[in-house]
Amino acid sequence: MGIEAVNSRIADIQGRIIAMQTQQAAATKAAAASTTTPVASGDSFATALADAMGSQSSAAAPAKSYSLNSKGIPTELAGYGNGKIPATALQRVGDTNHKLWAPAAESLNRMVSDAKAQGVTIGITDSYRSYAEQVDVARRKGLYSQGGLAAKPGTSEHGWGMATDLDLNNKAQAWMRANGEKYGFVENTPREPWHWAFKPKSL
Ligand SMILES: [Zn+2]
Repeated sequence: MGIEAVNSRIADIQGRIIAMQTQQAAATKAAAASTTTPVASGDSFATALADAMGSQSSAAAPAKSYSLNSKGIPTELAGYGNGKIPATALQRVGDTNHKLWAPAAESLNRMVSDAKAQGVTIGITDSYRSYAEQVDVARRKGLYSQGGLAAKPGTSEHGWGMATDLDLNNKAQAWMRANGEKYGFVENTPREPWHWAFKPKSL
């Protein structure tokens, strides 16, 4: 081969390399612009798998859904038993130390702050009550069935994190009677105008 032939061959090879590099750059650009993983490219399987796993785990965290069973007890709490619910399964009401079933806690917190914005002060006296606390309340206040003010231990709505006792002046009592139901809270116990049970129309 003469020198010119060699030079021509080198030029030809360089031309092919440049063409390949251009193609490669275009492919890389296209891949970067695309949201889907190109299945045919080098490490496609591992990348596709990681992508699939990633999108699966992010899709596997939908908003938590809440429901009540046929007895009106939160499905997620029913297994623990009345007054036996661990603190971690309940939710704090705002920045208080009171705890309720999560939807009730959120609704109560919203209700108290909405009332406050309207110049109405709602205090929280009691919320979730453990079985032992209900035994104590029953001892101090007597059983409701016997003219007292305490549900039989194991049957209280407080034991499911589904009722709150509120500290209400006359204005606040009237506000609750007019607005409580909007937040799912109903006055359902005669002789106990402070007791508001969480009976939401929908969750
Ligand atoms: Zn009560």
